[in-house]
Amino acid sequence: MTDAHCHVAHGASRHFLCDPCDGPAAIGDVRFVGTHPWHLDGFDALALRNQLAVDPHLGVGEIGLDRLRAREIPPRMREVFEAQLAIAAEFCRPVVLHGAKCWGEVVKAARQASEVPAFLFHGFSRSEGLLPDIIAINGYVSAGPAILNDHAVNYRELVRKIPPERLLVESDCTAATADATPTAETVAAKLAALRGVSMDALVAQIEANADAFAAAIR
Ligand SMILES: [Zn+2]
Repeated sequence: MTDAHCHVAHGASRHFLCDPCDGPAAIGDVRFVGTHPWHLDGFDALALRNQLAVDPHLGVGEIGLDRLRAREIPPRMREVFEAQLAIAAEFCRPVVLHGAKCWGEVVKAARQASEVPAFLFHGFSRSEGLLPDIIAINGYVSAGPAILNDHAVNYRELVRKIPPERLLVESDCTAATADATPTAETVAAKLAALRGVSMDALVAQIEANADAFAAAIR
């Protein structure tokens, strides 16, 4: 069982660990390095390129755009995102994307980075009209703990529409939230029920998808 997006290992047997990363990777885990849109001060293009150059098993993430903290996307946020997309393209690494309240713009930017082998749309919501565009750029969409919320009617509807071969699950766990964060297994069990498939079938599909997403760095 793969947790396709977390910042610290939490349940699951394999983790796709993204920066900012709060803990060590275990055997089988996959690491993604990059500057989150909330931590732009830490961005160093040269350091990122050096990391990728010495380790062929690193992906890039999580990177992206965000409107949760400000209405307008700051120019610097866009600049750091595009620079990292270009670096990921240069090294042909899969990318984990963050796009809270700006998924349309994230898709548009990702489309320009055609050398990137695959994208993971983490925390994706409210934008199901973009699913065909996401699929067209070899994108995967990970369902998160929000599906456990009985009030998240629209989100549950969206995760039911993700094609099976594009589906992943995530906890988005951080060290600070670990005690309160459901595991990827819990998310997967709910997802199987919502989609009307067996847990075994869903997990097999998710593992195949996780392998395909990370194929370029494994
Ligand atoms: Zn995250």
